[in-house]
Amino acid sequence: MRNIDRSKPVLVTGGTGYLASWIVKMLLEEGMTVHTTVRSLRDENKFKHLQKIQHQSPGRLKLFEADLLIDGSFEDAIDGCELIIHTASPFQLTGVKNPEKELIQPAVQGVRNLFFSAGESKSVKKIVLTSSIVAMVGDTIEINNLPDKKIDESCWNTSSSPEYQPYPYSKTIAEQEAWRLAEKLNNFDLVVINPGLILGPSLSQRSDSTSISLMIQLCSGKFKRGVPSGAQAFVDVRDAARAHIKAGFLPDATGRHLAAAHLKDFLDVAEVIREQNPDYPLPDKYVPKWLFKVVGPFLGYSRRFVSRNTGFDFAFDNSYARHDLKIDFMPFEQTVRDHFSQLVGDGLIPHKN
Ligand code: NAP
Repeated sequence: MRNIDRSKPVLVTGGTGYLASWIVKMLLEEGMTVHTTVRSLRDENKFKHLQKIQHQSPGRLKLFEADLLIDGSFEDAIDGCELIIHTASPFQLTGVKNPEKELIQPAVQGVRNLFFSAGESKSVKKIVLTSSIVAMVGDTIEINNLPDKKIDESCWNTSSSPEYQPYPYSKTIAEQEAWRLAEKLNNFDLVVINPGLILGPSLSQRSDSTSISLMIQLCSGKFKRGVPSGAQAFVDVRDAARAHIKAGFLPDATGRHLAAAHLKDFLDVAEVIREQNPDYPLPDKYVPKWLFKVVGPFLGYSRRFVSRNTGFDFAFDNSYARHDLKIDFMPFEQTVRDHFSQLVGDGLIPHKN
């Protein structure tokens, strides 16, 4: 395992993203030089929050233009970096028209482009890749077949495909390609973070990130008639960001890490918000499975998805991430409250009373 020199720049790909913005902020606050990539340097609205953070931090930020689909796109941004944190990848659960083009190619080509350029560089010693819990298990029904019904780092998603659950499929094959290339190129370490569903305050006012739009929908009445039953493995965006940074700088960090903190569902999220904000049109019951099967397709969830993902219990084991990355996770209530406050503060959901 290689030590990373903190005086060298760190590359964070996809700095405009919800998760990456927190990683960039934390590194800048530690006084580091951060290289980050954005799809277009002309789209200032997507990265002005990062420039503002830089002005308030001791670190230095350098922006580079890069696209996951363009060969050699990351070369300039990689120059001089020992550590790369690769978060950029499209995250979209519904409304995907062309899975190959919108999800799979960017996820897999992005890994290839970045890893080949890293392999050719003289500086890169480690890549931390953002994968996902969905690269571990595709449908919650499969958890019945796991020992103790627990998800951990030994699990791989074998049920998703380009046609069914394309986002989990894109994350699974991108992570598998990353492990294959790291072994083949054999000149940098690879450490992987597999976050659960991320919530918590966003640093930008964008609403198109899936985690943000889910919270906005929940608070705006879209699920007033009820939410599907079934737990999620939630993690705070700040804890997920910290896990990436620890994975980067702890010399002994190794392998995959399930970064998930709390087994809760969307009624639990609603309950935490309602306690202090009773006037919002939040759900207070579950939609029966048969009804979700009927309406699911209109909301972008196929009947097969509903059958295989609604109403199943599961558990997960995050002990490896806690031990290997020396992290602890913040309370669920704090994540939800801080996220809600940010959305109201930024005008993304209406302020009441
Ligand atoms: P996000 O806000 O949508 O960020 C995605 C980032 O990827 C954005 O910076 C986006 O750039 C960039 N990107 C997408 N396609 C690109 C392309 N062709 N070329 C260059 N950049 C591209 O989502 P997020 O929640 O922060 O997700 C970040 C990572 O965490 C992803 O790898 C995602 O799979 C993973 N993850 C997320 C969750 C979650 O619950 N949020 C859970 C587990 C894993 P633009 O800003 O230009 O669109």
